[in-house]
Amino acid sequence: MDTYVSNAIIMRVKEFGESDLLVTFFTADKGRLAGVAKGGRKSRKRFANCLDLFCLASLEYGQRRKGDLYLLESGRLINGFAGLRSDFASLSIASYMSELTETLFPQNVAEMAMFELLRDSFVAIDEGKGIDLVRICFEARAMTLGGYRISLDRCAKCGRPYAGVGRAVFMRNKGGIACLNCEKPSRNNPGLGPDAAKILGNMQSEAWEKIDLTALTADVVNEIRPVLKQHIEFRAGRPLKSARYLK
Ligand SMILES: [Zn+2]
Repeated sequence: MDTYVSNAIIMRVKEFGESDLLVTFFTADKGRLAGVAKGGRKSRKRFANCLDLFCLASLEYGQRRKGDLYLLESGRLINGFAGLRSDFASLSIASYMSELTETLFPQNVAEMAMFELLRDSFVAIDEGKGIDLVRICFEARAMTLGGYRISLDRCAKCGRPYAGVGRAVFMRNKGGIACLNCEKPSRNNPGLGPDAAKILGNMQSEAWEKIDLTALTADVVNEIRPVLKQHIEFRAGRPLKSARYLK
């Protein structure tokens, strides 16, 4: 059996048989995988605290035949992110970020930048950074990494370049903006001011620690939130299950 060692975030854990655990984990180098931890419910030695939900761990695992479930051999905890499980709001946002990652990246699709985004966002929530800010930065960047960058350069209908002056309308079925001559804001197609458009553009292209969070005023956040909500729901074809637990 070939064995591998990867840094991974634990996304889901289910009891499996008498003493085993079925674990879904998102690795830095191989994407999302599922594996069985034999004796995982009892073995404190091989899996010391590292199979808790949303932990970051270094996991050793193997596969007998291609297509089989992986077998988890052992693990070493890197960061338990205890703060993610300490209150309902933190747990809810961590669940939501994990679900969006799963929605965007099917099994075995590796994306190092997505792993880093999820890990860094967990660090931020664990350290008590504002959930609303971390959420929109995560959403904008995750959608971009998943191939759904919102196009902010020109009107999706008439093609007129958008120079970052005046308001625009987000068109969810276009994944981009339209000018006010072509479209009026509505519930599904929320309006977007120039500040919000600029910051949204930055959030899409940069690791979010680099973004000037002081520019994210309440008004800007309130404009970007419905845009990302509509964008995600439209692309996913449904609201995410964990979204309903977010305020
Ligand atoms: Zn137009």
